[in-house]
Amino acid sequence: MQWLLVTDLDNTLVGDEAALHTLNQRLTVARAEKHITLVYSTGRSLTSYRQLCKTASLLPPDLLIASVGTEIYPQGSDHLDTTWANQLQHQWDQALVQQIAAQFDSLVPQVETEQRPFKVSYFLSKAIAPQVIAELSAALEQAGLSTQLIYSGGQDLDILPKAANKGNAMAFVQGQLGIAAPQTIACGDSGNDIALFTGAENRGIIVGNAQPELLHWHSQTPSPYRYLARATYAAGILEGLHYFGVGL
Ligand SMILES: [Mg+2]
Repeated sequence: MQWLLVTDLDNTLVGDEAALHTLNQRLTVARAEKHITLVYSTGRSLTSYRQLCKTASLLPPDLLIASVGTEIYPQGSDHLDTTWANQLQHQWDQALVQQIAAQFDSLVPQVETEQRPFKVSYFLSKAIAPQVIAELSAALEQAGLSTQLIYSGGQDLDILPKAANKGNAMAFVQGQLGIAAPQTIACGDSGNDIALFTGAENRGIIVGNAQPELLHWHSQTPSPYRYLARATYAAGILEGLHYFGVGL
């Protein structure tokens, strides 16, 4: 039996140092024995992921999915999986997306390192987010762009090609590795993780400290394959793994 463990980083795996340490220790022992492929799936760019690695003790993953599912890097590599990148080109025009978004005063561009070939990112305040997202979405569609808007953490708005998101990138990795949905466990805490939880039979763990946007979606879209942990951060992941029979 093989397992694919896909976890978000900020406020899911990372956030409680002691719990992360425990999980790392147990994973180090069990990873080979239980045939666990470890994948990090983060909204961060590769640059920002490397910054996090300086402050958080993260085990080297087998694969890194960065920039909200738009970039896949094999273990330790700087080189994108080009098969995945090529699938995202369709109806994507980054310059045009930025030009349209620039018409919205409420969208504040995030730092340059977070603007990626297949991701354009802004800050957007929570109170006006639903209205701005609806208007922006209509404007992008009118321009013939095939995009999706993902709002996360009550502040981050990412515009991605329609084919990209954390869930689609995970499905691509499942296909490459030949690991089926019932052996796949995804963990997350916020809006950009919803895509990780939509695949019919994928197992999902929502950590106890999850954001309201994810908890709301979870309550509206229940699934017997998704576990809402009581424990927070990495301790929530451990609790969920135990629930799904992968006790570490
Ligand atoms: Mg997170």
